[in-house]
Amino acid sequence: MDARPRPDDSAAPAPADGSAAARFIRPADRPLAVMLRAGFWLTVGFGGIALPFAVLLTGSARPPPVGLLWDFAMGCGFAALAIAAMQFALTGRIKALTGPFGADIVYVFHRYLSWGVLGLMLLHFAVLYIWYQPALGELNPLTARWELTMGRVALVCFGLLIVTSELRKWLRLDYHWWRILHLALAVTGFVAAISHVLGVGNYSSMENALALWLGVTLVWLGFLIWSRLLRPVVQTRNPWRITANEVERGGVRTLTLRPEGRALQDWKPGQFAWLSVGHSPWAMRENPFTISTAPDHGPEISFSIKPLGDDSARLAKTTPGSLAYVDGPFGTFSVDRELDAAGFVMIAGGVGITPVMSNLHALRSRRDPRPVILIYANPELNDASFREELDSIARDIDLTVIHVPEEPPEDWQGESGRVDKALLTRNLPGVTRDWPHMLCGPPPMIAAASAALRDLGVPARRISFEIFELV
Ligand SMILES: Cc1cc2nc3c(=O)[nH]c(=O)nc-3n(C[C@H](O)[C@H](O)[C@H](O)COP(=O)(O)OP(=O)(O)OC[C@H]3O[C@@H](n4cnc5c(N)ncnc54)[C@H](O)[C@@H]3O)c2cc1C
Repeated sequence: MDARPRPDDSAAPAPADGSAAARFIRPADRPLAVMLRAGFWLTVGFGGIALPFAVLLTGSARPPPVGLLWDFAMGCGFAALAIAAMQFALTGRIKALTGPFGADIVYVFHRYLSWGVLGLMLLHFAVLYIWYQPALGELNPLTARWELTMGRVALVCFGLLIVTSELRKWLRLDYHWWRILHLALAVTGFVAAISHVLGVGNYSSMENALALWLGVTLVWLGFLIWSRLLRPVVQTRNPWRITANEVERGGVRTLTLRPEGRALQDWKPGQFAWLSVGHSPWAMRENPFTISTAPDHGPEISFSIKPLGDDSARLAKTTPGSLAYVDGPFGTFSVDRELDAAGFVMIAGGVGITPVMSNLHALRSRRDPRPVILIYANPELNDASFREELDSIARDIDLTVIHVPEEPPEDWQGESGRVDKALLTRNLPGVTRDWPHMLCGPPPMIAAASAALRDLGVPARRISFEIFELV
């Protein structure tokens, strides 16, 4: 548990001027480039929803008009299907797509869009039920028209998707089984919905509309094949080997991995990856962990894992020599996204220190001259993982570490208790208000600390957080 000479940050040459940050920021991470990419993806997204309407409105041989409410119901159905297809791209871990926003934001977006899909489907059904009931035919699946039954199957699947996701913990659904169920319901729901649209044939029998829905299905199939078949193949060809498993304070274990194929490409400090040990990449048995080292250290990477449940406990016990699979990097919790920052405030709670460590290693190896204030909360001082390593980093860069043990030792002179407004006021001088504030820790701590920072006048755009839960 001492300051091991793990990644040798101090080996890097010190830059001659204060431009340390700029030298390491990739052009793709510069603010304008990020905004342009975000704008591009939003345009693609909204364009994808608008596409069915454009095709239907401009198409020839449109069916005779039935009524405004009928067209509205059809529109709701088409929009629901377009968004449902898009959902597979949002959860497909496509780096180009998640990059500008951050994987957590994309998952939150996916979650709320799901409500949108269900709402549009219910609206589609409700309008037809109220005003065009004969069109719905029989309810009994044994005697009903198959394409109408497909529509109902889709509605039930999307409803179950939302219920099982929102109430997963309450239903005590194991995360692994929930993921399998989620995929099965999503695939069945989408196939049922597209069969319904094609089978019913309203508008979709038009030549260009048929091409549209077949195109949507192909794109959807492409995402599915990539994420469930091709990516595991790529991972199988690029395995990793665990080379060390070290004990840290606070019950955390650090696994070090060496690439046996292609190393991680283009990763930034503070990013995370999905890690799988002891299962094939097809098993959907992988968990997200921050890479606690920095890219500046070469191809080896480390994950620091706190055993909190079945998978993390199993991973923490991994023996050196085991084979692992890594899918990443993802995430935006990085000093590399903060080129213009004059300094950094970092607030970590417990194992939330991992992305902070990665960022600090990067700043140290680059001899970045910008000041960093780290507020680090733990139940007890002895639980503070990487305590000695932080002391060592503080000798090389302008880092101030403020430990906040909830239960301090008797002779403790420093801060203690909770990270609240009073503590932040005492430790953050006014000059830090416009610095990026990077928070990672238990959700209640993040909520309380960010509310206190807002009270102190820190602009919302200067507060970012990493949440260790994606759904
Ligand atoms: C971006 C990110 C970075 C993380 N970095 C670290 C880190 O550096 N160190 C660390 O110790 N922990 C980290 N975590 C948390 C870690 O992923 C969970 O503690 C671990 O997956 C829990 O799995 P479990 O089976 O041990 O526990 P369980 O009791 O099964 O799960 C506890 C909760 O963790 C979440 N979870 C479980 N499995 C997954 C999964 N495969 N994908 C997403 N969420 C899941 C679920 O919300 C679940 O309810 C990170 C999480 C995220 C999202």
